[in-house]
Amino acid sequence: MLKLVLDAGHGVHTPGKRVPDGSMREWHFNSSVVKRVIDILKNYEDVQILRVDDPSGNRDVSLIERTHKANKWGADAYVSVHANAYGKGFTSPNGIETFVYTSRPSGSVKLATNVQNRLVRETGRKNRGVKSANFAVLRETDMTAILCECGFMTNKEEARLLKSDSYRQKCAEAIVKGLEDTYKIKKKKSASKPKAKTSTSSNTLKHKIRKGDTFWDLSKEYKVSVDQLEKLNPKVNPKALQVGELITIKSTSSYYTVQKDDTLWGIAKAHKTSVAKIKSLNGLKSDLIHPGQRLRVK
Ligand SMILES: [Zn+2]
Repeated sequence: MLKLVLDAGHGVHTPGKRVPDGSMREWHFNSSVVKRVIDILKNYEDVQILRVDDPSGNRDVSLIERTHKANKWGADAYVSVHANAYGKGFTSPNGIETFVYTSRPSGSVKLATNVQNRLVRETGRKNRGVKSANFAVLRETDMTAILCECGFMTNKEEARLLKSDSYRQKCAEAIVKGLEDTYKIKKKKSASKPKAKTSTSSNTLKHKIRKGDTFWDLSKEYKVSVDQLEKLNPKVNPKALQVGELITIKSTSSYYTVQKDDTLWGIAKAHKTSVAKIKSLNGLKSDLIHPGQRLRVK
């Protein structure tokens, strides 16, 4: 069992911690990565997670409260997620660095090295290396502790990346890979093959033309192509559809039954589609799904 503490640095309102033009607060990046790490780790066996910042971001939980919680819980590892800054306004320093305490404890150096390497490999950003610093979260923690600086908010290019979902996802995946390299945590067996639970059904149905219908509307409604509609209905003139006329439609859909600990993101990835598409196919208003729910994925 790996008892892991995650710490999104600062809070929403912490003064100064933002992109110089005000377009992003550092906590929003930190928290998004932490949430994604938690989401990915749901698919791993034998990992327990404690988040020590305020998940709403409203309170900037003091560093001593964060480390005290981790110590009391008996954590094995502490990962603090941050975005870097240098100088006033936008400046040139860029890249990723990971910190350990000044005494460079070997367990922390090992985890920091693995996470740092994965972050650099996953994002392609400059490798600033594993550094040491007398930061409270590294000094006051009784366990392996690292602090990742995932890019500079004060660098224009990296500020843009830090705001994007894809970069945040890459950082989260890299942190999980670094943990996997270090602690040999393993994916749950069920999580690795969601495809087995996907069923595809193809059904032919008749659509009665309503006033104003076009093949284009029908192609959107039934998620088929206009070409296919024309081929299946050779006798129908698509330019002069008659109200009440019957149109043959063959729709192919894939359904997936949600398993315990599934996430929309994981399901989308396994079916080579996007979260937005699945949400629209199923009329989902939020990312919340529950085991046993049948989702149309295609
Ligand atoms: Zn920070």
